[in-house]
Amino acid sequence: MAACEKLIMENIRINNQRLLKNLADLAQIGATADGGVTRLAFSDEDIQGRNWFAERVKSPGFDYATDGAANQSAVLKSSHPDAKTLIVGSHLDTVFNGGRFDGALGVLAALEAAQTIQDQEIPLPFHLEVINFTDEEGSVMGEFGSHALTGAMTEDQLENPRGGRDALVAGMQNLGISEATALGARRNPAEILGFFELHIEQGMRLKNENLDIGVVTGIVGIRSEWITFRGKANHAGTTPMSVRQDAVMGAAEFMVKARDLTNEKFNPAVLTCTQIESKPAAFNIVPNEARFALEFRHGTEDLLDEMMIDLKNLGHTIASRLNLEFEWDDASDCRAAPAAENMLVALESAANNLGLSHQRMMSFAGHDTQMMSNFVPSAMFFVPSEAGISHNPKEYTQDKDVINGANVMLQAILECAKQ
Ligand SMILES: [Zn+2]
Repeated sequence: MAACEKLIMENIRINNQRLLKNLADLAQIGATADGGVTRLAFSDEDIQGRNWFAERVKSPGFDYATDGAANQSAVLKSSHPDAKTLIVGSHLDTVFNGGRFDGALGVLAALEAAQTIQDQEIPLPFHLEVINFTDEEGSVMGEFGSHALTGAMTEDQLENPRGGRDALVAGMQNLGISEATALGARRNPAEILGFFELHIEQGMRLKNENLDIGVVTGIVGIRSEWITFRGKANHAGTTPMSVRQDAVMGAAEFMVKARDLTNEKFNPAVLTCTQIESKPAAFNIVPNEARFALEFRHGTEDLLDEMMIDLKNLGHTIASRLNLEFEWDDASDCRAAPAAENMLVALESAANNLGLSHQRMMSFAGHDTQMMSNFVPSAMFFVPSEAGISHNPKEYTQDKDVINGANVMLQAILECAKQ
């Protein structure tokens, strides 16, 4: 590419007013009285949102398509004979009483970037596909569309979705898809160049550091476990402290020491203990069983494995000293999803072209990028969330940050075109 052509590309910007209007218009669909949005996946509001999106992209130049998982795509076709596809986007569904930016910003900024490329008649060496993934938020299954597209969807997941089997069956019918079509929606990764997703941060790191863009190095993996300590029930008055086999004391000591271990050895990992139950449930009996849910998140599978070994050792050590039994049962896990370095570099070059400050960081929340990262080279990036609030009607991202995000998306696409 000639130097002057490069400069022209770097000076291209999105249409701010069109993007802001699209965001405002979409927020009317499923709008709640307090300024939030309820557009649950597979619901009537979801279908209205989808129809709105389909209407937006039926301009000449875009090919509109849906797949067997009801993912919606608007494709700007390249004339290049060996063109692969660069996918950009996010999700249009929301949680119950959610905000206007989570997901919607990612789809509409991607669409705005594609429309700008179309307006400017910039020839791309790849097809550019703007995608709206089905049911990211999990009102029925969670990351439904990206599971299907990447071939990670299983019959077992469809049999036991978190929102219930009946809701899934009815929902799929609403969108005109079936189990068979969803399971058949896997794409060929050899035909996909990569994936970018813009999302609001849903945290305070960018605000606290006064940064414009967070370049996400990966999405943390999540391990979920059931922990049980077992001891011996006995009289709470007549049993001296020194001979008790108190299961709750084992659990309590484990929780505090697991927190300290996380902070001291595995920072920035996070660890949570919930759903604490003890038996028997009485004031005057030393409990013989304490059971709770343990969840921990970290950036790579290796670090998660190391954490797991340390936590198991901690449990066994405490149990043997207190004369208890310790049990560890795996409930579920979600693999860590590292971003592709070439995609991170494209995002950083894009931010540099725009004079925006940026920093690499992990994502502690799940996104469709998680599924895409283990499938094709992928990366996501964040713009600031005011006060870090999300999944809430008060979720807000300033216009300037919305515009910055869309311009980074545009420039990152153009960076990929240079490579
Ligand atoms: Zn989201």
